[in-house]
Amino acid sequence: MSAPEESKDTRLKQAEKIASHPEQYKVCEGCGSIVVARAVTCPSCHGYLFDATPERVVSQARELALRAPHSVLSADLS
Ligand SMILES: [Zn+2]
Repeated sequence: MSAPEESKDTRLKQAEKIASHPEQYKVCEGCGSIVVARAVTCPSCHGYLFDATPERVVSQARELALRAPHSVLSADLS
């Protein structure tokens, strides 16, 4: 099963959005997912340690967008 083409496009757009507003997100130290800043625990691994450094968020967003998906990008955006 291959992922639909638009999901990759969506991930790139999501990454751009995150990179332009890194203060609204943080990186999970457990699995590297990017979650919204208000999240208490990671929706992916249920970890509770996060790195909210804007530089880390931006570089992680780019890395996740380029790599094969194995971590979620802001699963809890809405
Ligand atoms: Zn996590």
